[in-house]
Amino acid sequence: MQTTPRHLTGRIVNLQHFCVDDGPGIRTTVFFKGCPLRCRWCHNPESQALSKEIMYFSDRCRLCGSCACVCTHGGHSLTAEGHLLDRSRCVRCGECVGRCAFGALEGVGRDCSIDEIMEELLSDRVFYETSGGGVTLSGGEPTMQPDFAMGLLSACKAEGLHTCIETCAYCQTETIVALSPLTDLFLVDWKLTDDDLHKSFTGVSNALIVENLEKLCELGSSVILRCPLIPEVNLERGHLDGIAAIANRLKNITAIDLEPYHPMGIGKTVALGKRPSYENPDFLDTVLADDARAYLQDIVNIPVSIR
Ligand code: SF4
Ligand code: SF4
Repeated sequence: MQTTPRHLTGRIVNLQHFCVDDGPGIRTTVFFKGCPLRCRWCHNPESQALSKEIMYFSDRCRLCGSCACVCTHGGHSLTAEGHLLDRSRCVRCGECVGRCAFGALEGVGRDCSIDEIMEELLSDRVFYETSGGGVTLSGGEPTMQPDFAMGLLSACKAEGLHTCIETCAYCQTETIVALSPLTDLFLVDWKLTDDDLHKSFTGVSNALIVENLEKLCELGSSVILRCPLIPEVNLERGHLDGIAAIANRLKNITAIDLEPYHPMGIGKTVALGKRPSYENPDFLDTVLADDARAYLQDIVNIPVSIR
């Protein structure tokens, strides 16, 4: 296999330390930028576009004007209506972000080399070793930057670290095959069983995802299914039966994690200058989440948990 050069760069949103929900033990999670899906309820909309972006939080803006002074592209202006960010002028240089003393502007997306990221990941080694943890690639979607993902995982394996990928599995099957020997555990999303609904709510068919789940089974890779619970989208018994059918058919699926909807993505979507396409402001009722868990647990032979 060809070795990925350690100076290869990839684009990430951020790197998060001490994560306990992204695989076993204490983990450091690398959030990749870019995703091929457009789930309407997305919890991390800042990771969807591969391009760098600027987020503007109007509730934090004090109208100081520092951003307008520094931007040479006319991106910011202060008018009688307040502060305006003209995204058609913005070239996403990020100059204004550092000038805003109130945290109203945030740049999303930075390019890092494998070496740079490894230095940060290895600083947490003691936590991995004492907790049985490791490194997780998440996003966004790690398979959108396959060479970078493979390079990072190879570097982690060379250091003896446990590796996970959180993925929507909507990628070329050859990418899944290449990632398999480098990944100790796949956390694969399963969002909607009905393919028409899947297309409508995520923008793509789930056929390739099924194909890749089957390939992971053939390769003997360990998989945990991760299923978001979204009100008025996928709480029906038909979808829960669909989750069970996959879990009972593919013997390498070792657990099911249910992820109840939360509305945190809405404010971030607005801050990105986009219109939310799913505007439910309420957290999923815990009774509904518990019902779904109990129903599923009765029809599968693997643990079902709520994350
Ligand atoms: S990111 Fe750069 S171009 Fe865009 S608004 Fe800020 S300073 Fe202007
Ligand atoms: S620098 Fe920040 S607080 Fe000041 S006007 Fe610009 S966005 Fe608002």
